[in-house]
Amino acid sequence: MNTIGDYLKSGSIDIALLLSLTLKQSNTQLYTQSNYRLSTRETDRLTKLTQQREQGIPFAYLSGEKGFYHLNFKVTSDTLIPRPETELLIDIVLELFDQKYPYKILDMGTGSGIIAITLADINPRWKVSATDFSQAALDVAKTNTTAQVSFFQGNWFEAINDQTFDLIVSNPPYIKENDSYLDGLIHEPQTALVSGEDGLNDIRVIIDNTPEYLNKGGYLLLEHGFDQQAKIVNLLNKKFHNIKTFKDYNGNDRAVLAQIK
Ligand code: GLN
Repeated sequence: MNTIGDYLKSGSIDIALLLSLTLKQSNTQLYTQSNYRLSTRETDRLTKLTQQREQGIPFAYLSGEKGFYHLNFKVTSDTLIPRPETELLIDIVLELFDQKYPYKILDMGTGSGIIAITLADINPRWKVSATDFSQAALDVAKTNTTAQVSFFQGNWFEAINDQTFDLIVSNPPYIKENDSYLDGLIHEPQTALVSGEDGLNDIRVIIDNTPEYLNKGGYLLLEHGFDQQAKIVNLLNKKFHNIKTFKDYNGNDRAVLAQIK
């Protein structure tokens, strides 16, 4: 049997993370106990995880969780793995929306629930709802809930009947069909990623329908692809004003906020 130190030197992908997961030890503990020899059971478990990781299964699906903002979220193959870029949407809401006012906020296509739950957890005054067309994703989101969030199943606006909101926020699918970038994402739900030839099919549906579901002076906040901002601003111009654009922390265009005219 090999020791922790042997494995750490192996160069196998994410080996320190996989050792931590197998042995339920922190990274620091691994390095201070590098002479520890794994038992047969631990070795079998680690071998299985290493093989899965080498086949391309993302680490978050092996550990079953991913951190986002200040919380840890359960994730399964029914939900997209939270991306750090999406934290930008939370920062925008926290900076621009009054924390004292009981805004009604809707997160459309919530997946594991990250946007809705993070906002509700930070500010219990906000009345937060979330939708997803995938019941399996909603089931995961419900287990992640740390605060009051109302969940509705359905495709975009079909989920919410005639409710209206002060802010509708979404990280919709926005990758182009056949984009080679998708080759690296085969283990994640494609319906959460891909949106037609130009990646804008779902964003068009959202922009076209949002005005009916916004309260007077309400806002739409969207995450989008690095090369889609100009097109989205164009789509918004007819019915929205006070359009603000944002870059993510890698310097890529990543979000748009717009107020209903
Ligand atoms: N930002 C994600 C990625 O780059 C895509 C998520 C999405 O389409 N909403 O993998």
